[in-house]
Amino acid sequence: MKKERQAVILAHYYVDGAVQEIADYVGDSFYLSRLAVDLPQQTILFCGVSFMGESAKILSPEKTVLLPDKTADCPMARMGTVEEIQNVQSTYPDLATVCYINSTAALKAHADVCVTSSNALKIIRQLPQQFIYFIPDQHLGRYIAGLIPEKTFIYGDGFCYVHTSITREALEGTKRQNPQAITLAHPECPKNILDLADYIGSTSSLIKYASQSDEKEFIICSEPGVLHPLKKNNPDKLFYQVPSALPCQDMKKINLEKIIFSLETMANQVEVEESARMKALKPLSKMLELSL
Ligand code: SF4
Repeated sequence: MKKERQAVILAHYYVDGAVQEIADYVGDSFYLSRLAVDLPQQTILFCGVSFMGESAKILSPEKTVLLPDKTADCPMARMGTVEEIQNVQSTYPDLATVCYINSTAALKAHADVCVTSSNALKIIRQLPQQFIYFIPDQHLGRYIAGLIPEKTFIYGDGFCYVHTSITREALEGTKRQNPQAITLAHPECPKNILDLADYIGSTSSLIKYASQSDEKEFIICSEPGVLHPLKKNNPDKLFYQVPSALPCQDMKKINLEKIIFSLETMANQVEVEESARMKALKPLSKMLELSL
């Protein structure tokens, strides 16, 4: 069906392992958004949540972008309002609004640049403004702020319920049971989790770190789907989840039946209204430019 439709299947690390297995490319938001632009196929089936399909469509409007389940959404992507953004923008003259890619096109439209957890540090360091308004994820924003002390950060109040479900108590328990294990954490986790981590990074950099490390055991503070590529690529290593970690319910809505249905019917196409697309395109294109 995929060949018939001349489609390419992209999957985020947080979807089920069975879905990752049939994808042409598996990766994090940054890698997948770049691929969506660069790949020659005119039909992209995006196994992820709506802001990912939306970003692909914004960057490549001539392509058909399919989301196997259009109700798969990221709650954090909607945490913030245009009024809040405009209030902060009118308060600070020398301000750059930096929008995490995990956001709706409506929020992106009010940003100067988008970032992912892979490229936020590199991009914000290049911005000339003294004040950085980081939306919507407060935890990623605070983590990056700690690495760029020369700038002054203001934060949105968004958060990811998956990464904030990892509690300090549960992590300490997992560390006590596996004292030899290295702790790897995604920066969407709160500071009290990051304080206990040996390494902090985007999903792809956590996978790279564990794969290249000589250590054999790792505690993963991120969405449990990451354990699929970790175990697959490192059969000689052991990976432990923190028991309080919730799966991302929306990422788990994507399954093989829905993928087949989308390809058969070409249903669930992502549409972004042209004026909204043009407004969100600017910060997304700026992200691609500054992350080179
Ligand atoms: S893991 Fe968190 S940030 Fe990612 S899609 Fe799910 S709710 Fe959104």
